Amino acid sequence: MSAVETPVVVGSLSPSRAADFLSCALMYRFRTVDRLPEPSSPDAVRGSLVHKVLEDIFDLPAAERTRERAHAMIVPAWAALQEAEPRAAGILDGLDEDAWLRSAREAVDRWFELEDPTRLEPAEREAFVECLLDSGLMLRGIIDRIDVAPDGAIRITDYKSGNAVAEGYEARALFQLRFYGLMIWRTRGVIPKVIRLVYLGDSQIVSYAPDEADLRATERKVQAIWAAITQARATGDYQPSPGRNCDWCAHHALCPVFGGTPPPIPPRRPRPPLSRWARLRARLRQVFSFSRSSG
Ligand code: SF4
Repeated sequence: MSAVETPVVVGSLSPSRAADFLSCALMYRFRTVDRLPEPSSPDAVRGSLVHKVLEDIFDLPAAERTRERAHAMIVPAWAALQEAEPRAAGILDGLDEDAWLRSAREAVDRWFELEDPTRLEPAEREAFVECLLDSGLMLRGIIDRIDVAPDGAIRITDYKSGNAVAEGYEARALFQLRFYGLMIWRTRGVIPKVIRLVYLGDSQIVSYAPDEADLRATERKVQAIWAAITQARATGDYQPSPGRNCDWCAHHALCPVFGGTPPPIPPRRPRPPLSRWARLRARLRQVFSFSRSSG
């Protein structure tokens, strides 16, 4: 291929949706092809709120990035989220909103136990990364924070609002880390020095230092997942894979494993590119659609 040629985009894949397909092809179908709505939760919306505060605090001068300033940002950030997604407020119906906001402050406090924002100067926040593989598959993801050291070393951080990954779910978390590493390597030509999941629920950090062999293996795995998705799309055959993933799947009523019948597969709809504000809305939509399985 010459330098001016780019492959035709044959499809796109995010870490979450790839992990969905690995867990259960039918769940992937319900979420990504049918785009069925799923109930959200106060915990998931609080996660979005805390993400927003941890993004916006870096707009302040370094010396002003204190807990107190972060606490003061929570109520305005909550107002902004409700404006972006009117359904957000309804999630708190019947709940003590003050107690819920207090729990958001506590999550912010746990972050301050792990990191000192006065000593950080992120290169990018809420970075929407797209990476076109030679095969034409577009990888897409939103990375919470990218730090770049003076020597060019890249550190990727993704905030998780829950507790550190439970036994049996490490594979999904590790796959997400490798997926991020692959995207950064392929777009910037630099293998990230470290990729971290920062868990705000129990103040833990899971780190991974990728190497080239890991990332090449990840690319092969992503291609294999895409091949399987393409096959499923061509045949309409999305097999259910019952297991622990059923615990957080909202579609038991439509799943044959639980006696349901999936609806007809809808025609495909294109997705538009995302602006920064649209990314916030996309994250909220993700919270409302996939609240149990995403960070
Ligand atoms: S209920 Fe279980 S088997 Fe059925 S679609 Fe959901 S995750 Fe898959």
